[in-house]
Amino acid sequence: MFPDASEVEALVRSKGMFSFYEDGHQECCRIRKVRPLRRALKGLKAWITGQRRDQSPGTRSNIPIVQIDPSFEGMDGGPGSLIKWNPVANVTGTDIWSFLRTMNVPVNVLHSQGYISIGCEPCTRAVLPGMHEREGRWWWEDAKAKECGLHKGNIETAETSNNGAQNTASVSELFLSKDIKAFSRAEIEEFANLEKRENSWIVVLYAPWCPYCQAMEASFNELAEKLGGTNVKVGKFNADKENKPYAMAELQMKSFPTILFFSKNLRNPIKYPSEQRDVDSFLAFIRALQ
Ligand code: SF4
Repeated sequence: MFPDASEVEALVRSKGMFSFYEDGHQECCRIRKVRPLRRALKGLKAWITGQRRDQSPGTRSNIPIVQIDPSFEGMDGGPGSLIKWNPVANVTGTDIWSFLRTMNVPVNVLHSQGYISIGCEPCTRAVLPGMHEREGRWWWEDAKAKECGLHKGNIETAETSNNGAQNTASVSELFLSKDIKAFSRAEIEEFANLEKRENSWIVVLYAPWCPYCQAMEASFNELAEKLGGTNVKVGKFNADKENKPYAMAELQMKSFPTILFFSKNLRNPIKYPSEQRDVDSFLAFIRALQ
């Protein structure tokens, strides 16, 4: 798995090598780790992680042994298409180390130098005896945001929290492709009222915290790239918060994400009817409407 070189280059050119110390690790992790993993998981039905509940009280204390992956999609596409196994969820770090020593398993030498949880070099430090292992990762950030995105579903959102309070501490923007136009509220209102348009458009209504929107990000970015130079343009509208009542009343939105096709010859958009959110399914939908 490798990150997309052009995305890394764009990040480093615009923000420098160490932007994560300034504005949080999510953007860098998204480009270097999450998107490559997302691409790899699209070819699978299940994956196995080494997550443990005692690793991170802020984010991992409730992980189940087996779950439907809350963040990524598998080869069949759509929510629920990927199983995530966490077979050592219930095992403590102490027991893991007892096993490793008993079985004489070779381990990374950094562990004996105080590096208990090891990630990328600039975001990892050694901890002192008595400090929690997660204090060695992204130590400048709130403990509740300490997931790189590979296990982002561990961070509670409005969908999963009991009190309904939406956690936006770690949320970063979606669909950052140069081929995707971001509509403002005024722009989408004007656009949606046009009787005719110069081009047809496919537009996603999304919320940055929504795991299903995050799961389709790579597919939608790839779709935009494939449609570049054609007469079908690609757009996005953040329909969360103050825009949500408008999107629900005027843009057929019942849940996130909602995907709309605006034909150049029709005023009213046609809603994408499927939960298969892969590029081929999007293209088939567009072809059927042209
Ligand atoms: S752990 Fe740090 S360096 Fe590695 S991808 Fe995340 S922010 Fe970037």
